[in-house]
Amino acid sequence: MTYEDLDPFDTGPPHRSCPGQRKGMPPPEYWAWNVTRQCAVPGCKRMREPVGRYCRNHYRRFVTYGHISKRHLPGSEIWKTKIRARALLDASIEAQHPTALAGVEAIRRLLAPGSFIHAEEKHEYLRRISSTANPREVIAETVAVCACLVRFDPDGYHDPDYLATQIARRLLKLGPRRYTGGGELKSLKRSKAMAGAVLDVCGPLVTLMVATVERNRKLRRRKRTTTNPKGTP
Ligand SMILES: [Zn+2]
Repeated sequence: MTYEDLDPFDTGPPHRSCPGQRKGMPPPEYWAWNVTRQCAVPGCKRMREPVGRYCRNHYRRFVTYGHISKRHLPGSEIWKTKIRARALLDASIEAQHPTALAGVEAIRRLLAPGSFIHAEEKHEYLRRISSTANPREVIAETVAVCACLVRFDPDGYHDPDYLATQIARRLLKLGPRRYTGGGELKSLKRSKAMAGAVLDVCGPLVTLMVATVERNRKLRRRKRTTTNPKGTP
């Protein structure tokens, strides 16, 4: 095995030569070797950070935004979709839709005290929001982020790092005030773990709701153009 095959984020036992080292970090020789290589972004001539494939600037952008060139989704694009998603979810719960009930129940269990997330280090962000987040809001935020990405940036939707970071950033806002002040996510691994856990337990519901939100939007638009074909107010 060479260092090329080594995943720096892979959780393994602590390195023997360095017992106090944090679990999941690569051996020190990897860091020394990694900083002698060029950044993986085409055209960037700077040297890499000790961990990861990017130079300091690109690595920071990657951790903060989940992507080296994209930025956060603006809240102004999300809030309208979120209101629609919340209304759709409430209507589905009212109608006893089995997927909606199962999704809300799954999120409630995920956030409940004593859930498996409380034991795992990588679920730090879920642990933080578990005391104040409402399962309905968690689902509405996730659906809103996914629907906005599907509409404005299908590329971003298919980039798991970017999708996970955007979902985690929105979900952190549901937590207690003291955790939202910091602004940026500090750990890509933990933000990915949070979005992954949420999508794992309510994936079918999110897919269904994103499709419904999109379909309703197209229906509304068609209705608008047929009742008012010239587009005059
Ligand atoms: Zn770079």
